[in-house]
Amino acid sequence: MIPEKSEIVVIGGGIVGVTIAHELAKRGEEVTLVEKRFIGSGSTFRCGTGIRQQFNDEANVQVMKRSVELWKKYSEEYGFKFEQTGYLFLLYDDEEVEIFKQNIKIQNKFGVPTRLITPEEAKEIVPLLDISEVIAASWNPTDGKADPFHSTTAFALKAKEYGAKILEYTEVKGFIIENNEIKGVKTNRGVIKTGIVVNATNAWAKLINAMAGIKTSIPIEPYKHQAVITQPIKRGTIKPMVISFKYGHAYLTQTAHGGIIGGVGYEVGPTYDLTPTYEFLREVSYYFSKIIPALKNLLILRTWAGYYAKTPDSNPAIGKVEGVSDYYIAAGFSGHGFMMAPAVAEMVADLITKGKTELPVEWYDPHRFERGELRTVALQMG
Ligand SMILES: Cc1cc2nc3c(=O)[nH]c(=O)nc-3n(C[C@H](O)[C@H](O)[C@H](O)COP(=O)(O)OP(=O)(O)OC[C@H]3O[C@@H](n4cnc5c(N)ncnc54)[C@H](O)[C@@H]3O)c2cc1C
Repeated sequence: MIPEKSEIVVIGGGIVGVTIAHELAKRGEEVTLVEKRFIGSGSTFRCGTGIRQQFNDEANVQVMKRSVELWKKYSEEYGFKFEQTGYLFLLYDDEEVEIFKQNIKIQNKFGVPTRLITPEEAKEIVPLLDISEVIAASWNPTDGKADPFHSTTAFALKAKEYGAKILEYTEVKGFIIENNEIKGVKTNRGVIKTGIVVNATNAWAKLINAMAGIKTSIPIEPYKHQAVITQPIKRGTIKPMVISFKYGHAYLTQTAHGGIIGGVGYEVGPTYDLTPTYEFLREVSYYFSKIIPALKNLLILRTWAGYYAKTPDSNPAIGKVEGVSDYYIAAGFSGHGFMMAPAVAEMVADLITKGKTELPVEWYDPHRFERGELRTVALQMG
């Protein structure tokens, strides 16, 4: 049975919707989350596990610093795995070093302890690295990784304990809107009366916006990004997330099971297709073995695809959307929404319960696109 009414309805059961529902329920709000398939079935369970504070603008650095605090807190409290094994950006020329020096300055300003290290120091952190072309690296030991399955499920279970209703296989089909006010959400299982809606459907966000008759242009498009997993090897072989923009915008790390997981910048779209491609398999093999030649000897077990829900400046749209009250959006994470989720949940819950937040949410203003105020393009992986 679905509830007849709920103060707040969150649409989308990925990490973003789940952490928002969790945060609202924890604050004592009456919240119902509706997910058209099962929890995590969108991009969340397809993601690369990475959590970093190494961004190139003040807002994302501050938000990710807070997010890492929350990842730490909740992983300890709820018993899922979050490891601070660092992010290592390999740099190959002076221009890259200059850009990363600027980024490090911004990160240090907010207490993120990133520093520029030598190729030899990088090799101490990951002994299998080929550093013959590397001239420096950007290293932050407090970045990390978390298991998307464990963490999303843990947040969902806790949200329920705090009283949130989580409805799987419940698809939003439309809204009941009177005088620009939301009165209810129509689902395939009936109507839930509500006055407050949060669109947390990421790659599908534009479809939900259209159902709500949102006039503001919030350009979010689905792009196919792929990932790979190899056979497991000795744990602890590759502790941090290793990044190389020179070699295919590649990112790779080792999972808790021992396999090497990661991807490259190879992108297809806009599309809702999710078939893995041979071109990706070839590129990922080539680039990964340029960064760590020993990976040539490993078997690839599986490749798969998921969506990056991209905006023109690679920053999400987070906040209240004018025109229909009370309609909030938290979508368009452009390939780094997993890491942001706990802080996004805090911002959205603050906006709903207090009308303001201490985190710099205005950076993600959903109305910036129509005003032509695009932000610095956020550092995107893959
Ligand atoms: C290969 C790959 C690697 C990635 N690596 C990383 C990484 O290392 N770190 C990182 O931070 N991010 C990474 N990402 C991005 C990350 O996966 C996403 O940003 C994040 O999962 C977005 O979460 P979400 O909850 O917003 O969206 P989703 O997980 O996609 O959830 C949206 C949900 O909405 C539901 N939905 C849609 N329409 C409806 C409807 N009408 N009614 C009800 N429900 C609906 C969907 O079923 C879906 O479950 C990666 C992505 C990919 C594809």
